[in-house]
Amino acid sequence: MELSEIYSNSYIIGKNNSSPKISFEVFPPKNGDISKLFEELRILKKYNPALVSLTYGASGGLNRFTFEDLKSLRDLDLTLMPHFTCVSMLKSEIENYIISVENLGIENILALRGDIPDYIKADELDFKHANELVEFIMSKTTLSIAVAGYPEGHIESKSLKEDIYYLKMKIDAGASAIFTQLFYDNDKFYRYADSVRSAGINLPIVAGIMPIRSVTQIHKMTGMARISVPNILCDAMEKYPHDIEKFGLEYVTNQCDELLKNHVDGLHFYTLNHSDIVSKILNNIL
Ligand code: FAD
Repeated sequence: MELSEIYSNSYIIGKNNSSPKISFEVFPPKNGDISKLFEELRILKKYNPALVSLTYGASGGLNRFTFEDLKSLRDLDLTLMPHFTCVSMLKSEIENYIISVENLGIENILALRGDIPDYIKADELDFKHANELVEFIMSKTTLSIAVAGYPEGHIESKSLKEDIYYLKMKIDAGASAIFTQLFYDNDKFYRYADSVRSAGINLPIVAGIMPIRSVTQIHKMTGMARISVPNILCDAMEKYPHDIEKFGLEYVTNQCDELLKNHVDGLHFYTLNHSDIVSKILNNIL
């Protein structure tokens, strides 16, 4: 199912009977053994996900799902959305990749520029920004395209306003939905969504949700992308550094509850390939 269809009837409490749109992000297992991931996805499947997104060399790594992996994942009968980063790839390689994805019968893709490695000069790239990739995918395939959004601004941006200006370029190039960076402060998400709407973008904004497993994980994830950590969460990390999971479960449950009450278009869980905490959160909110 394509993105526009998945999110055509977004969750509006009291206005229709549609259920919340829940989706999951997973990454290729580091040891290459995909069977454990299959187990986790079978557990998560019972929450009837709108889609499952598949990272592509995330966090600067080279770890990627192979086409064989994508073929096997199709057998789980889930709507898949592979991510794709164009940085450090030639136009011809990009063309081959996206056409191969389409030939697998996959309908959606998350189009990203990716982080530019130190050894590459930005002006030597075939595609300098994600809007060019979106345009290219539109010209070569019928894939339905999502793009990344940053409620607190992308780290390279001078301002949120500038970031939203460039987001609009990705949308005008043909994207159908925005999947956001993780955040822990809902007010920042609401302000972002308002600014995106004011810029004339009327597409689904799917909220990135990262369950909390450990203090180290929060520091790593939020530090890399300059994501704010609300005081209440900072205090809890200081008070219970070894037992943050329990507090985190309550925190993220409340965060999701509030987003749903405020008619978020969808919740996209960064699962880190663990179904346990995500299942607990979903059991609390659904
Ligand atoms: P762009 O949209 O190109 O934006 C990058 C920066 O350039 C921004 O500051 C933007 O404001 C600016 N900009 C955009 N267009 C222009 C333009 N035309 N001219 C000038 N400036 C411009 N990374 C991975 O490696 N693998 C993944 O699987 C992955 N998945 C992700 C999933 C989500 C939901 C998100 C939010 C991020 C993900 N990332 C992933 C991280 C992403 O690759 C990085 O944040 C990367 O630095 C930017 O990619 P982008 O597509 O947002 O780039």
